Amino acid sequence: MSTADEGLVLVINSGSSSIKYQLLNPESSVVAASGMVERIGEDDGGIEHHADGASTVRRGPIADHTAGLRLIFDMFSSTGRDLRRDGVHAVGHRVVHGGEVFYRPTLIDDAVVRAISELSSLAPLHNPANVAGIESARALLPGVPQVAVFDTAFFHDLPAAARTYAIDAEIAAAHGVRKYGFHGTSHEYVSGQAAVLLGRPPAELNQIVFHLGNGASASALRGGRPIDTSMGLTPLEGLVMGTRSGDLDPGIVPHLVRTAHMDVDQVDVLLNRDSGLKGLSGVNDFRELQRLIDSGDQAARLAYEVYIHRLRRYLGAYLVQLGTVDAIIFTAGVGENSPRVRADALADLSRFGIEVDPAANAANSRVARRISTPDAPVAVLVVPTNEELAIARAARRVAETC
Ligand code: ADP
Repeated sequence: MSTADEGLVLVINSGSSSIKYQLLNPESSVVAASGMVERIGEDDGGIEHHADGASTVRRGPIADHTAGLRLIFDMFSSTGRDLRRDGVHAVGHRVVHGGEVFYRPTLIDDAVVRAISELSSLAPLHNPANVAGIESARALLPGVPQVAVFDTAFFHDLPAAARTYAIDAEIAAAHGVRKYGFHGTSHEYVSGQAAVLLGRPPAELNQIVFHLGNGASASALRGGRPIDTSMGLTPLEGLVMGTRSGDLDPGIVPHLVRTAHMDVDQVDVLLNRDSGLKGLSGVNDFRELQRLIDSGDQAARLAYEVYIHRLRRYLGAYLVQLGTVDAIIFTAGVGENSPRVRADALADLSRFGIEVDPAANAANSRVARRISTPDAPVAVLVVPTNEELAIARAARRVAETC
């Protein structure tokens, strides 16, 4: 049977120096193959490909995204699945910034590629890489529907009060300055899964979602729709992240320009790559941070405390904005795997109906589950995210309308 007959969708998540991919069945969620091309443009590039229970690694320089995608296709054919010959049903591309233009999964044509490219001023690190991935995939798989799924789309209709920054309205309008929000595919997916777990329609639920990975974001959802989210014009705003500062006094930027004589690119690098947990403790990986804390490292302890303090600030804000909350959901690398973060983020809140069951919280599991005490009014849930599956499903839906 060919890949197209199996209804498989290729999902491509093209970053500035990497391409993550999965070939999967959107109906059964079964992953036929997955992998990652790393360090594009550097001397020590490589690909790791997983298919049929086996992993293949190849090292060597990869010039650009086109070469990276070609390598992926070669990997598929050398492990027994020729994507060009067998065909795929559709290709789903994760695109970071959809601006005001894109608010639903969109079939890609030349005009869409141009528009994504034009949005690069809002996401200079991400959108050009997304465009490179899209163009390469279109060239390698002509005739296969290609669909863009936007990280910002879920938050497009945020209420005006939540999406508006209190700056000069004309300047904001002229330069697209508003809160867009990111990780939307994940927030939408896990809140939907949470509704399934609770056996209630999303329309009846008030939910708070914490997506805690390397990047981290929070959202408040009423009836399945977001009313607020922590990330903003860019993915820099909000929670403390692996290498990003999250919220800070905007006055810090001109202060550093004037007194530390940093230029705009240096401040950009400082806040995006050298801040957050890394800036405070020297490490951005949460497991390493925990090891440092356990060995008595004071800087790591402070980084952790700042991280939890910020989480609780958003939790408090969203509890008040929603009024009543049915579920608090943790997802992504840290959210799914750190009982310590979940316990500390929600400590001493029983008067708000929030009570984590220590045994349920500590249990090691890969499936969506409840970790609050059985009688607590607010369900605290751990729901593994699956952005690839959500993108594959969206891509198939759009492809079927072609
Ligand atoms: P992203 O997709 O944003 O790169 P992930 O969702 O994969 O990030 O999350 C990565 C983070 O999850 C890292 O900081 C990593 O240390 C953390 N993480 C993964 N496993 C665990 C664990 N068992 N305990 C604590 N943190 C973990």
